Amino acid sequence: MQILDGKKTAEEIKQEIAVEISNLKQKGKKIPHLAAVLVGSNGASLTYVNAKVKACEKVGMKSSLIRLNDTVSEEELLEKVEELNQDEQIDGFIVQLPLPKHIDDKKVTEAILPSKDVDGFHPWNIGKMLLNLPTFLPATPYGILQLIERYNIETTGKHCVVVGRSSIVGSPMANLMSRNTYPGNCTVTLTHSRTVNLAEITRTADILIVALGKPEFITADMVQEGVVIFDVGITRKPDKSKKSGYKLHGDVNYSDVAEKAAFITPVPGGVGPMTIVSLLKNTILAAKGKRKKF
Ligand code: NDP
Repeated sequence: MQILDGKKTAEEIKQEIAVEISNLKQKGKKIPHLAAVLVGSNGASLTYVNAKVKACEKVGMKSSLIRLNDTVSEEELLEKVEELNQDEQIDGFIVQLPLPKHIDDKKVTEAILPSKDVDGFHPWNIGKMLLNLPTFLPATPYGILQLIERYNIETTGKHCVVVGRSSIVGSPMANLMSRNTYPGNCTVTLTHSRTVNLAEITRTADILIVALGKPEFITADMVQEGVVIFDVGITRKPDKSKKSGYKLHGDVNYSDVAEKAAFITPVPGGVGPMTIVSLLKNTILAAKGKRKKF
């Protein structure tokens, strides 16, 4: 079994990005600038947003964190989005999800200028992804594709099973793995909560990508020997032995499954750090203005 070390790979990619940014500085060019909007004070969201901002600082990119009270109205948030759309200093921005219940996250996502939508959630960008046109790939699936490439994992002709069909992870992932390119060319099965006999399907997976948000859901009896596993799930569970007061759990029962796997991502240190560097890569892409067609 080999660990797919997302933390190490993300650090390598950050070093590459840092060189790119340093070159831009030397040439006197504009430094890519990512803005993140956080509504409310949800602990997990705050951790994710801080990690994104910190990653920007580490590679020499500019970042801005915009914090809004969770009582902010939908209209006020949409005004902030428009302000960021118009701000020439900001190359790309994200609105951290989930949003409070009184705000329609689809409306907010659609209000983001597609050329600044570095999370890749805007319908235009999703459409371009489906058509295999250059675009911002959603950060988590993009991160998994980069791990596949960096570890030279064979995908052609493989059976890839994706568990979970969210619009930000499972659905785009299933699409990307079936594309006629590398990584891709898999035969893909997309499963969800209504799937019958899920274990029978996961047992036929050569590549298993799990994103359902149920800790330790995938057990050894649900996988075959030699499977490649990407565990996207992150659930916080209280743990007094940890300084933070919680422990992070993946959707895969790691200790149970790892021995059967050829490759597996740990949680933490697997898909999470790759998601963050993918966001940085998308921001650089936005800054380069490669997508002027919008
Ligand atoms: P969602 O809650 O949006 O979607 C969960 C999906 O899992 C749904 O499609 C649901 O099916 C499916 N599901 C639920 N129960 C079952 C079941 N028993 N069997 C099969 N499928 C099931 O989740 P997200 O995609 O947003 O996130 C999933 C996990 O990944 C979470 O733990 C989240 O924190 C984590 N995450 C991690 C990231 C990272 O960077 N590492 C980034 C994004 C998310 P149905 O559609 O039928 O309801």
